[in-house]
Amino acid sequence: MRKKIVAGNWKMNMDYNEGLSLFSEVVNMVKDEVTGDQTAVVCSPFIHLHSLVALAKGYPKVAIGAQNAHQAESGAYTGETSAKMINSVGATYVILGHSERRQYFGEDNALLAKKTDTVLANGLKPIFCIGETLDERNGGTHFDVIKSQLSEGVFHLDEAHFSQLVIAYEPVWAIGTGVTASSDQAQEIHAFIRAEIAAKYGQGVADATTILYGGSCNPKNAAELFAQADIDGGLIGGASLKSRDFVDIVKTFN
Ligand code: PEP
Repeated sequence: MRKKIVAGNWKMNMDYNEGLSLFSEVVNMVKDEVTGDQTAVVCSPFIHLHSLVALAKGYPKVAIGAQNAHQAESGAYTGETSAKMINSVGATYVILGHSERRQYFGEDNALLAKKTDTVLANGLKPIFCIGETLDERNGGTHFDVIKSQLSEGVFHLDEAHFSQLVIAYEPVWAIGTGVTASSDQAQEIHAFIRAEIAAKYGQGVADATTILYGGSCNPKNAAELFAQADIDGGLIGGASLKSRDFVDIVKTFN
């Protein structure tokens, strides 16, 4: 059985104290209310990571992740944070290739391939985001876009490294817009992603890969999305900033 994951992406929200109190609420609710075998991952800004890891101790259903890492191991890159540093505070996941990084920071598939290598070399699990823009969907090129994001971003990995990845399908037109992909639209792409993985690494690896949906996912639409055969959870932006909403989405798997 592949792992079910609901990952929160706080983006650039929450000052230090706000983040700690939000996370404390999440941990308390997860402890008391979540009974299945799902994992909740909270991807916070760097400033929270160390404290969140400490607060999550003793709660095996909760893991902590960062939202980015630099592709170099270390060096003169003022303002950047390395994968080794993220690992050293006890975080275990890193979001890579989020559409906001692609759009606002010019991150392309070639750079993301390097970041993926560095993150894996430092023992962290990438949550690797892919997804098409509205123009690409309307122009009918969405399958090609997804295919190249996979082949140029992560298909250079050997099987052992690829097996450490979580893939997140996030249609750009659904992120932060309140417009969610329908469960049929999402399932169609998730099945395509799994088929591409199967063609590259074999059916066994494809069946074991966790593929998350992201894009205006909330407590009302999560159950229908997560009930689809190839959707193994969600990457949650806005709704992860409210403890009740985030935990209700995590509980969808109960
Ligand atoms: C995201 O940023 O990864 C995301 C899915 O955002 P939202 O849930 O707010 O659409």
